Amino acid sequence: MSGQLINLEQYEFDNRDYIGLRADEERAYTEESLKHLLQRLMRSSRFYQQKLEEAGLTAEDFGGLEDLAKFPFTTKEELREAYPLGIQAVPDRDVVRIHSSSGTTGKPVIIPYTAKDVTDWATMFARCFAMVGVTREDRVHITPGYGLWTAGIGFQAGVERLGAMAIPMGPGNTEKQLQMMMDLKSTILTSTSSYALLLAEEVEKRGIRDQIHLRKGVIGSERWSERMRQRIENELGIETYDIYGLTEIYGPGIGIDCGDHEGIHYWSDYLYFEIIDPITGENVPPGEQGELVITTLTKEGAPLLRYRTHDLTSILSEPCSCGSPYPRIQRIFGRSDDMIKIKGVNIYPGQIDDVLRQTPGASSEYQVHLTRSEGRDFMLLRVETESGADLESVQAAVAAVFKQIIGILIEVEATPIGALPRSEKKSKRVVDERDI
Ligand code: ZN
Repeated sequence: MSGQLINLEQYEFDNRDYIGLRADEERAYTEESLKHLLQRLMRSSRFYQQKLEEAGLTAEDFGGLEDLAKFPFTTKEELREAYPLGIQAVPDRDVVRIHSSSGTTGKPVIIPYTAKDVTDWATMFARCFAMVGVTREDRVHITPGYGLWTAGIGFQAGVERLGAMAIPMGPGNTEKQLQMMMDLKSTILTSTSSYALLLAEEVEKRGIRDQIHLRKGVIGSERWSERMRQRIENELGIETYDIYGLTEIYGPGIGIDCGDHEGIHYWSDYLYFEIIDPITGENVPPGEQGELVITTLTKEGAPLLRYRTHDLTSILSEPCSCGSPYPRIQRIFGRSDDMIKIKGVNIYPGQIDDVLRQTPGASSEYQVHLTRSEGRDFMLLRVETESGADLESVQAAVAAVFKQIIGILIEVEATPIGALPRSEKKSKRVVDERDI
């Protein structure tokens, strides 16, 4: 692999005017962009005119970055209530496309895009590909779905902007996927982590690994563990990269982890990231974990101010060893809606992963049961153990490590491997019976 080539490709999509800035100039750029954004919202977004009026604020109340915290958050519920096009901030003639987030509960969120939004998104996506070393010689197998949601078409636009070859498969039909992958000699796989794993297992099962030419995987859209990543990489013989994004903010492609795999770089010339305490809504000190809040700096169709993503991460302030000037966040380690609140302590799913990783004999699968009795909360952590482990000693060890890392005493029940329920989709790890 030629490092030289990757760097040359990368330059094409770097905004040299921006990345050449000194720290103080970068701050001035961000503040100027935010000021313009607020003016734009006050001028042309009925949604935000109303919101800012309710908060008793105008664009004039923003003098610098430290003032941003005065401004209200935008939530998914509000975007839902604005269905269908209540958040549109440009005249109809400027909208060239819409996308929609899947509405598993209630109404979906519709996001309108202008021609510039579509171009900016493709540029960000192409940057992601360039950052991980995809070149114009590559053939990119696109398995995420096409249609209302932002996945397939986003990958495709990024591939075309970069100048590589897009193979727009969409999801499903594994038979055909593998045939095309072999015949067309696809070199890059783009998919969700669960579909990548399914394909990897299928390749293994059919013994066709020597006919597969994949060298990299750009994987997104759900939280995946390091263990899952290793399985995908080993079975397909590829290096994988975690791509980040959400429909409300363009879609996937607003950030990706680089070849050093030390967090996700994000495109700070298009987006401003903050981390807040999900309970109090206050900004947390740099480096601390919390919920990611995103403000779009240049988006036209549906600009968003302080949008609560519910994704849990932290901003990594040290420069990355890869040399990229773009800032980084930690890989997403959970959702604030999955957070457990017990005995006044917030517990993130990632912390339970940490406890189990640090306890000899404990496996990765667990389930939390929360109950309330006589006004007091109780937590039972059911944990699978590695085969051959002594259940009683693992039980005691998990409880001790839990107390040490998270600070509260809980009850632990160790079970043999395979005792907890498995799910094709997302495993239900928390059973909260406190409100029943
Ligand atoms: Zn890096």
